Amino acid sequence: MTKHYDAIVLGAGAMGSAAAYHLARAGQKTLLLEQFELDHQKGSSYGHSRITRYAYDDPAYVKLAQAAFPAWAQLEAEAGEKLYTRTGGLDFGPPDSTSVRATIDCLKQMQIPHEVWQADEAMRHFPQFHLDDDTLVLFQADTGILSASRCVLAHLRLAERHGAELRPNTPIVEIVPDASGVTVKTVAETFSAARVVITAGGWARTVLAQVGLNVPLYPERCQEIYFETAQPEQYEAERFPAFIAHVGDVYGRHVYGIASNHNSGLKVALHGGQRVSHPSEINYEPTMQEIETVLRFTQRHLPDVTTLRSARVCLYTMTPDEHFLIDKHPQFPHVVFGGGCSGHSFKFSPVIGGILADLALRGTTAHDISLFGVARFL
Ligand SMILES: Cc1cc2nc3c(=O)[nH]c(=O)nc-3n(C[C@H](O)[C@H](O)[C@H](O)COP(=O)(O)OP(=O)(O)OC[C@H]3O[C@@H](n4cnc5c(N)ncnc54)[C@H](O)[C@@H]3O)c2cc1C
Repeated sequence: MTKHYDAIVLGAGAMGSAAAYHLARAGQKTLLLEQFELDHQKGSSYGHSRITRYAYDDPAYVKLAQAAFPAWAQLEAEAGEKLYTRTGGLDFGPPDSTSVRATIDCLKQMQIPHEVWQADEAMRHFPQFHLDDDTLVLFQADTGILSASRCVLAHLRLAERHGAELRPNTPIVEIVPDASGVTVKTVAETFSAARVVITAGGWARTVLAQVGLNVPLYPERCQEIYFETAQPEQYEAERFPAFIAHVGDVYGRHVYGIASNHNSGLKVALHGGQRVSHPSEINYEPTMQEIETVLRFTQRHLPDVTTLRSARVCLYTMTPDEHFLIDKHPQFPHVVFGGGCSGHSFKFSPVIGGILADLALRGTTAHDISLFGVARFL
């Protein structure tokens, strides 16, 4: 017999775990299906750390961050676990960097406290960095670290506590929406539900095609890289800020970094990677080329970095404009989806999970999601 649920969630990454939590908390009989084990390493959400920040160049994201900081605090309180560590954050680049300037302007406009420093002032605060004399530096004190895997597992644990059923190692092979609900098939079983939330990360283009939506979401193969340092205590969260170096002109991509979190080693990595058409094409073995590019950066700007500790491959899922995709299906409003996270959505996941639950339950949300609509691709 087909088992019926109020809501089915596809995918247990940052978005799906948060959506399942919000749906279950709202009293929905919720089933979450994940193709791999929980907290697996093949998608986008596994790991020691992600940056969270207000420092964006677009007020829409600052507003989402204004909702996300308290949402993380609420999750920490309910989970009884520390998930966010405030480290402060730097954005820096050449003096004419349009992206650093646009971020400063946006924080001013949104009245988010911040400081604009010259290189010598930044290095007085954070002597770990060597910056060129004319570097333009933005400092924002609330920027910090989210312990990524712990965040996902906290959402999953609480979803389960609120009654959700979690099924790892259960790929969804077919989704068939109709006027009143949806049928979801796995290899062995068929389920029905009043609504489905699709949060498929790098697999989203293929999954959304099953419900008739052809959207340009492409995975990128990225590398997280962790290093040993000459003075490890200087690279702990108490002393080292998260940073984004707006240095695409020199290194091909922005470079970002995060303090050692739970003894991970200092993370320094390139933002983005090589585009593929499906995650099955990805070679999950780290390659030296990216590590060498990052080492060129550290030799110039973080001279205490000594040797490679570890590296791993994971996915971004890019949209052409790098804005997320969060919407409901134009023909089947009980089919809701969140994806295209373009390498910067983790920090918003508790809010996006709430938005997805709102869309699935009420068809609307109080948050401004006008940047994220599917109509821009259809
Ligand atoms: C190296 C790296 C660094 C990043 N740094 C930051 C940062 O500093 N700050 C920030 O805010 N963001 C950052 N991000 C981005 C952020 O981590 C991602 O945007 C976010 O984790 C995306 O979550 P997701 O749930 O959409 O995708 P995923 O975590 O990939 O989850 C999708 C899930 O769906 C499952 N799935 C797919 N198809 C099926 C199916 N048919 N049936 C069942 N399950 C299925 C997958 O197995 C997967 O578990 C970073 C990402 C990476 C990779």
